[in-house]
Amino acid sequence: MCGIVGYIGKRDCADVLMDGLEKLEYRGYDSAGIAVFENNLIKTVKTRGKLACMKEKLETEGKPQGFCGIGHTRWATHGEPSDINSHPHSNGRVTIVHNGIIENYAELKTFLKEKGYAFISQTDSEVVACLLDYYYSERNPLRAITEVVKELRGSFALGILFKDFPDRVYAVRKASPLIVGVGDSEYFIASDIPAFLKYTKNYVLLEDDEIVCMEENGASFFDVHGLEIKKTVQTAEWDVEQAQKQGFPHFMLKEIHEQPKVVEKTLKSIVKNGVPDFSEIGFTDEFMRGINRIFVVACGTAMHAGIIARYAIENLARVPVTVETASEFRYMNPIVDKNDLVILVSQSGETADTKAGLELAKEMGAKTLAVVNVKYSAIARAADMCINTLAGPEIAVASTKAYTVQIAVLYLIAFRLAFARGKINEDELKKLTADIEKAPDAIAAILKKEDECKFIASKLVNVEKLFFIGRGFDYALSLEGSLKLKEITYIHSEAYAAGELKHGTISLIEDGNPVITLATQEDVLPKTISNMEEVKARGATIIAITRKETQFAENTVDMRFDIDNLLPDALTPLATVCALQLIAYYTSVLRGIDPDKPRNLAKSVTTE
Ligand code: GLU
Repeated sequence: MCGIVGYIGKRDCADVLMDGLEKLEYRGYDSAGIAVFENNLIKTVKTRGKLACMKEKLETEGKPQGFCGIGHTRWATHGEPSDINSHPHSNGRVTIVHNGIIENYAELKTFLKEKGYAFISQTDSEVVACLLDYYYSERNPLRAITEVVKELRGSFALGILFKDFPDRVYAVRKASPLIVGVGDSEYFIASDIPAFLKYTKNYVLLEDDEIVCMEENGASFFDVHGLEIKKTVQTAEWDVEQAQKQGFPHFMLKEIHEQPKVVEKTLKSIVKNGVPDFSEIGFTDEFMRGINRIFVVACGTAMHAGIIARYAIENLARVPVTVETASEFRYMNPIVDKNDLVILVSQSGETADTKAGLELAKEMGAKTLAVVNVKYSAIARAADMCINTLAGPEIAVASTKAYTVQIAVLYLIAFRLAFARGKINEDELKKLTADIEKAPDAIAAILKKEDECKFIASKLVNVEKLFFIGRGFDYALSLEGSLKLKEITYIHSEAYAAGELKHGTISLIEDGNPVITLATQEDVLPKTISNMEEVKARGATIIAITRKETQFAENTVDMRFDIDNLLPDALTPLATVCALQLIAYYTSVLRGIDPDKPRNLAKSVTTE
C-alpha cells in the first residue's frame, strides 16, 4: 500500500523520484507528490490522481531542480484523496511522506493544537510533520526523530526532510516496509526494491524503529535511542528485467505466463534427490512428527492457497488443518499451543494482519513457518522457519504466479509431512514428487489455450453476476477463481461448494446466469455433474472446466475448457488456476478495465 521513495545523489532528483514512484504504482494509490530541495528551499508538487496527473502538474508548475528529495504515492486512509491530503506534508521546518496509520493521531493533534500548530489536511500523517517540528531544536534532527518515534502508535514508514539540512534525507520505519538502496555516492529509500533496482542492487533493511540519515557521501544508521548502529548491505537477486512488462500489455498477463518457469524454479529449490527436503530450514521429519495441528493464517489469495493446503495435508498426512483469515485469527483468541504449527502465507511478507497473526502464534508458543515471496520481508524475518517462494517480483495487484508457487510449496509440505508421519512410503513420496514436477508442463499446456479462455471471457463481458462451483480441490480453487474475477472485472461473483447450492444459494440462479463449474475430481464427478444439472434446469449457462474424457449429457454444458491429463486429480489446481486467471484477465480487458490496477485495491496491505 502506498509507495515511498527518497533520493540523494548527483542525478536529477525529481526524475529519480518519479521513476521510483512509477515502479511502485502496483501497490495501489490515489494521489502522488514529491518534495525536492531547490536552491536550499523545499519545493513540493503534489496532486490527487495518478502519476500522469503529477507529470502534467510538474510541467505546468515546473519540475523542482535538485539532488535531494522524497516522493509518495498515497492510498488514503484518513481523509479523502485530494490535493491537500496528498503527501508530502510540511509544517514549520519539516517535510515528510508517510506510509501507514498513526493510531493516536487524534490525541497528538489536540496536543499540538494547544501548542499553537495549525493543520491544513485531514490526514493522520500531518501530525508527524508537526510533532517533528515540535521536538526539533538545536539543529538536531536525529533527536527530534527519536522523540517522535517514541510517541507514535500504529504503523509508519517515513521519509523526512529538514529545512536546515538540504543535503540529507532521513527515514525511519515501524511495521511498514522501507528499504535503503546503496549506490555509488547516491542513496535511496523505497517501499520496495524495484523502485531503485535500475540504479543499484545493493540494499540495507531497516528494522522497526531504526533510523537512516542519507548524505551524498554516506548513509548512517541509528537505533531508537539515537545510537549509531552497523548494518549489512545485501544484494537483491531480482533484476530490472523481471520488474518490467517485457512486451506483454499488462504485468498480470506477463505474470500468468511466467508460471511454468517460476513453479519449476520453486520446486527445484525444495526437491532434493527426487523428494521434498526442508531440513535446511529446520523443518525436519522429526519436527513434523511432533506436530499436533496445523493452522494456515493468511489473507485473500494467500488464504485460498491455505484452503488447498488443508485438502492436501488432511488427505495425505492426516494432520488436522484449520485455515483462518488473519484479520479474524488475531482477535479471536484462538486455541493454539506449543504443539501446533502455524503457517503464514503472504506474497509480500508485509501483510499487516498476517504479521500480527504470526506474532500472536509465537506468543502462544506455537512454531511458525512463513511461506513468502519476498525474502527480506518482515514476516520472513520474524517466523521461526521460512520457505521463500521464487515467483520473482509480482507487480500486478491481482496475485497469479505468487498463488501458484504458494500452492506448489504447500503440496510439497503435505507430501513430506505424509512421509514423515508414516502415511506414505518413500516410493510413494517419490511418485508424488515426480507428479508435481509435471506441473510446469501442465501449466504450459493451459497457456497454449489462451484463445479459448478469451472466448469464454467474451461471453462474460456483460453479465452482472456469476457463480463458481466445485467439490474438493475444485471447490478450494473456485474460491480463488471467483476472487480473481471479482478483483479485476468488478462483476459480482460467488464460489460455492457444489453440494451446498441447494441449501439456499440456488435461489440466486436466474435465466442465463453463468455458472463456471470445475469438474476435474474423479471421485466426486457424478455428484458435481448432478449439481451442474440442477442449475442448468434453472436456466444457468454452464461453463465446465474439466478433463477431456469427461462426458456430459447432451445440452448440459454450454461451453467447456478441457485440461490435459498431465496431473493427478489432487494436483489439478496447479494447472486449472491458470485457465481461471486467463478468463478473469480477458474479461477485465474486454470490459475496459486495467487489470494491473483495479480500483480500491492495494498490492501489499500493510494496514489492518
Ligand atoms: N494514513 C496516511 C494518509 O491517509 C498515509 C496513507 C498511506 O499509507 O498512503 O494519508
